[in-house]
Amino acid sequence: MRKPFLGGNWKMNTDKASAVALASALADSVGSLTDKVDVAVCPPFVYLDTVSQALAQSSIAVSSQDIYFESNGAFTGEISTDMLKDVGCEYVLVGHSERRHVIGETDELINRKVKAAIAAGLKVIFCVGELLAQREAEQTDEVVKQQIEKGLVGIDAAGAANITIAYEPVWAIGTGLTATPAQAQEVHAMIRNLIAGMYSQDFADQVRIQYGGSAKPANAAELMSQPDVDGLLIGGASLKPEDFTSMIASAAESV
Ligand code: PEP
Repeated sequence: MRKPFLGGNWKMNTDKASAVALASALADSVGSLTDKVDVAVCPPFVYLDTVSQALAQSSIAVSSQDIYFESNGAFTGEISTDMLKDVGCEYVLVGHSERRHVIGETDELINRKVKAAIAAGLKVIFCVGELLAQREAEQTDEVVKQQIEKGLVGIDAAGAANITIAYEPVWAIGTGLTATPAQAQEVHAMIRNLIAGMYSQDFADQVRIQYGGSAKPANAAELMSQPDVDGLLIGGASLKPEDFTSMIASAAESV
């Protein structure tokens, strides 16, 4: 049985006061739902420390939105794994589509980041997903397969046990367009099959695969009812504590 896992990606939103208010409101409203659902929030780097402190008494984990693969030194503007652990991060997002397609991160860079995070004892939410043109050209499986194979080069099963995969079709992120539950299920099943081939069926049965892309209270239950959808990575709706909590409740009911 895979415990559902919901992540809230705040992206480049909030300020210090609203980040603390959002984290505190969420901690108050989730209550014992975290017995059934793992929950993490991903604030901007500069608020990680404050948000970690605000969530110290809760079971909500904190994640960064990115990471750098070097441990220290002359890398202006970058943030290391030790710095993230120092401010209470348990998870890191790696390979989010906005970093792939807006910032220009490659599969090779993403692979170095995944390896560095695992080596440092951090858990990774590893994001993959196709562009609209790639879906229309029926290249979804091939694109996602390549992102996973290249992103996980050199990572053995012990390392990969620290990874959650987030399937996020790029055309659905922040657009209001959501993959249908059937579309999500189809890709999630393909990913699980791929992971079984790369590692083992037992391993693939354990790995959690989140869906991301305009997930909201109205579609959370149906997405979560799909057999290979083990959680959600949520952008916009995670900025509203009542919406995020309602989605966590839907995930709890799906168990
Ligand atoms: C995301 O940021 O990963 C995401 C899925 O955003 P949204 O829910 O706003 O589409």
